[in-house]
Amino acid sequence: MLKVAISACLLGEPIRYDKTGQRDRFLTDKLGKYASFIPFCPEHLAFGTPRETIRIVLENEYKKVITVFSKNDVTEAMHKAMAQELRKIQSEPICGIILKSKSPSCGLGSTKYYVGEMGEGKKDGLFALTCKEAFEDFPIEEEARLLDPWLRENFIMQLFAYHDAMRLEKHAQSMNELVAFHTAYKFLLQSKHEGNYRLLGKIVANHKNKSLQELTQAYLSLFKKNHRL
Ligand code: SF4
Repeated sequence: MLKVAISACLLGEPIRYDKTGQRDRFLTDKLGKYASFIPFCPEHLAFGTPRETIRIVLENEYKKVITVFSKNDVTEAMHKAMAQELRKIQSEPICGIILKSKSPSCGLGSTKYYVGEMGEGKKDGLFALTCKEAFEDFPIEEEARLLDPWLRENFIMQLFAYHDAMRLEKHAQSMNELVAFHTAYKFLLQSKHEGNYRLLGKIVANHKNKSLQELTQAYLSLFKKNHRL
């Protein structure tokens, strides 16, 4: 079964600032048949629930976390909670992360930034940024984008591919397994990037007689990049 880290509110946990959840039926009822979820909520961990809303305020490029009404600087508490939540999801064999859109913590390109009281465009929330830095070439998406059928299909495919790649990384015992993996993914790889597909084929051909471990690492590093395309 897949393991996926997810913003806890998307599972319906009443953990948002106003003690509500925002259950996403596709994720809980459909993806939930194939995946077990590792929920996280850095804001609940830092400030409890219910809580005052926060926003990200830029000060000389520095991202401060400020409570909206009382104007307190809660950046440090937020960073502590994010580090704890990151450790939690890093300790699990997850193959993807799903984030809640528009949140100052979890939005993926949909979080409003401010300079003073003025809006300064939309970027990644702080925990989304933390996840992107910690998990390179990893399937990460926000729930709002998964309403688009093509993006949804592409993301679900990435989750399964990454899961398979993790299994190969851990358990490959012979060259045959790497060849079988490459053969199974042949058409998908080709559809993503013909050039990378050929490069992966060259790695599998192993003209330089590399060890299985070296080969698998080189193969999967490019395979994962390819699946983020
Ligand atoms: S969006 Fe993120 S921080 Fe906000 S309630 Fe959901 S999990 Fe918590």
